[in-house]
Amino acid sequence: MNIEKVAVIGAGVMGASIAAHISNAGIPVVLLDIVPENASDRSIIAKTAVEKLLKADPPPLMHPGNIRLITPGNIEDDPGLLADVDWVIEAVVEQPQVKQSLYRKLETVCTKDCLISSNTSTLPLSLLTQDMPDSFRQRFMITHFFNPPRYMRLLELVSGPETRPELTAAVTRFADVRLGKNCIACKDTPGFIGNRIGIYWLLCGLHEAIELNVSVEVADAAISAPFGIPKTGIFGLLDLVGLDLVPHILKSMEQALPKTDAFHQVGRLPEVVRNMIESGHTGRKGKGGFYRLNEAGGKRVKEAVNLATGDYRVSEKPDLSLLQEAQKKGAQSLLSSPDPAALYARRVMAKTLAYAAGLVPEISDDITAIDAAMRDGFNWKLGPFQLIDQIGVGWFAGALHEDHLPVPPLLAMKQPLYKAESGQLHYLDLTGAYRSVPSVEGRLLLADIKRQGPSLLENRSASLWDIGDGVACLEFHSKLNTLDMESMKLIRQSVDKVSESYKALVIHNDAEHFSAGANLGLLMEAIHRSDWHAVEQLIQEGQQTYKALKYASFPVVAAPSGLALGGGCEILLHCDAIQAHAELYTGLVEVGVGLIPGWGGCKEYLRRWLAFPKRPGGPIPPVVKAFQTISMATVSKSAADAKELLFLSRNDGITMNKDRLLFDAKARAISLAENYTPPSPPVFPLPGKTVKILLSMGVKAYRLLGKATEYDVEIGDKLATVLSGGNTDITTPLSEDDLLALECEAFVALVKQPGTLARLEHMLKTGKPLRN
Ligand code: NAD
Repeated sequence: MNIEKVAVIGAGVMGASIAAHISNAGIPVVLLDIVPENASDRSIIAKTAVEKLLKADPPPLMHPGNIRLITPGNIEDDPGLLADVDWVIEAVVEQPQVKQSLYRKLETVCTKDCLISSNTSTLPLSLLTQDMPDSFRQRFMITHFFNPPRYMRLLELVSGPETRPELTAAVTRFADVRLGKNCIACKDTPGFIGNRIGIYWLLCGLHEAIELNVSVEVADAAISAPFGIPKTGIFGLLDLVGLDLVPHILKSMEQALPKTDAFHQVGRLPEVVRNMIESGHTGRKGKGGFYRLNEAGGKRVKEAVNLATGDYRVSEKPDLSLLQEAQKKGAQSLLSSPDPAALYARRVMAKTLAYAAGLVPEISDDITAIDAAMRDGFNWKLGPFQLIDQIGVGWFAGALHEDHLPVPPLLAMKQPLYKAESGQLHYLDLTGAYRSVPSVEGRLLLADIKRQGPSLLENRSASLWDIGDGVACLEFHSKLNTLDMESMKLIRQSVDKVSESYKALVIHNDAEHFSAGANLGLLMEAIHRSDWHAVEQLIQEGQQTYKALKYASFPVVAAPSGLALGGGCEILLHCDAIQAHAELYTGLVEVGVGLIPGWGGCKEYLRRWLAFPKRPGGPIPPVVKAFQTISMATVSKSAADAKELLFLSRNDGITMNKDRLLFDAKARAISLAENYTPPSPPVFPLPGKTVKILLSMGVKAYRLLGKATEYDVEIGDKLATVLSGGNTDITTPLSEDDLLALECEAFVALVKQPGTLARLEHMLKTGKPLRN
């Protein structure tokens, strides 16, 4: 079965953003809601929800134009819109009667093969299908998206005993390939996997902080980075979710879970939180929550709740030196430290991890599904079982015993929960046997490759891997994958290695971000020594290395995800093709640190604008376009946006699911390798001085309007010189090397200026650009 058109019923928080994400996949989607009383426009709810999508933050749409794929309407007048859809997702209020009466209506208007699913968070499938006809039960399932649906990778899927397997398979494949989700099959149990464990964890974190008299800042810091958990920790996450939602979740869990479940030991809200909800302090969407920004003395001050009194106080950065010292010695040392922050972490994590382990096989027979749910639904770097392995199963079981907590049977075996054998990952089941973690066709991770053997080349910043079928993969692995001379060295060595023994190269890494750009520390050292020759060498080394990639005898395909900034964007621009993850945030952001792109970025970006799209006006409009994007440090909001900005070209591919990115890039590289010839060097017919003056005047006008700073004018002047071609005119085309020389000259001139030094120092100190 193919899913080519979808409908979402219920245009609230979830429905509208699920519809937006379906449109991100290029799929037409109908969005229906009820008709409000006395409304002059009977579809006003769905229409307003669609309009709001354009203003929502973070943006649910990967491109504003996707909105054209969403057709709003109402459930009374527009049943005709449902006649040709393949999948209806119900996302109406969490009330079984409302949902069931809608299902009865859907039975009469949808085709018999249309699959219907509910986005319910708490209602069991058995209840939703009660008294419904067989024809409905066979086409029904629960598809539980996490909020916000564009960004959260987890999709929990519950099929009933009668659900047709081909429908389950179709949704699983569609969600994986088209929506980029990790689709986890769950049993029909309360809260499925993610919320069952996640809510227990949040409640433990809340109660233990109060009991141990630990501040919200200490609690969040202790529970986050040391365990690879987002820095929102417990209290920041509760603020994000909204405290007012918690009582509803507690009520349904309270009713649904057996009295023996450990949930009941934590499933109540402390008085301080009840008071906060009553006074409207429900989190980020309310008047603030455990944290808030308050106006005081004309300034915005971050405040936090004192859990003992419920009053707000100025938020303090916690001193975690003892915790960090213990952490350096490993997880066991951290969890046995007497430091109050470490003690808090032990209490919360020991209970949570043990709770998760005790839920096998109730919520899943397979620990890999539970790990994936916590990674993709709560953004944990490692799932509960991966964390237990990291701590050490035997040690952890001993710690539970010491803390008078029951040791779940899975942990009582004291065997590693995962192990690699002959390059294949296996997980432990309840019988004590190891089962291989199943692979999914079309997914490939560098982590899988690494399990199979050593790298081909390696230094501290980068490695080269054999990913099979004659293709090698270059991986950056420095902090934030910043690029330094070691990265450049490995690129050069990789070009030699691939020329000798491989047919293509892919540049990719499994990290959250492809590359944050050049390592600015090195540059700073040279500036502090006033060693301008070293700066020049740094630039020329990067330029020549990227050029070597561009003109290599084999095709190079970049497969970026997350941030690809500055030098990270420049390397993309030098590749034969890009296969990008849909969540790509790329741009030439050098002006933010007082610089211009110097590793061939100006040249390559300009080349793209000159080559496509062909427009009247000769080279002037392309030069202006390139100037605007670089001078404003524009970063794409997605891969689709990067296409519009020409960081990606029309033929570059976009992969929705990050786990499929390397596989897709490799396939692209193999196809390019057939009859590959390196590109011929371009020439640049550039307008020269007249356009340079025009561009510089533009920045000065922005300065007068207060939209550009004094130093922006200076950088704009240098950038304008490079992009307009320096001392040339349209009749004397420049070569690639001429443009590289202009880049280098402008770069070196800028690093000598105090304005650039101030921007660099500020960025290294605060991580934010200075507006001087
Ligand atoms: P919401 O209250 O924001 O939106 C519900 C929408 O359904 C409203 O616009 C309402 O007018 C509409 N509606 C009610 N009855 C209807 C009917 N008969 N026909 C058509 N539309 C109808 O709710 P929400 O937060 O979007 O939740 C929707 C569903 O998603 C619930 O089942 C909820 O449990 C689940 N869910 C919510 C979240 C979350 O974070 N909010 C996360 C995952 C799942």
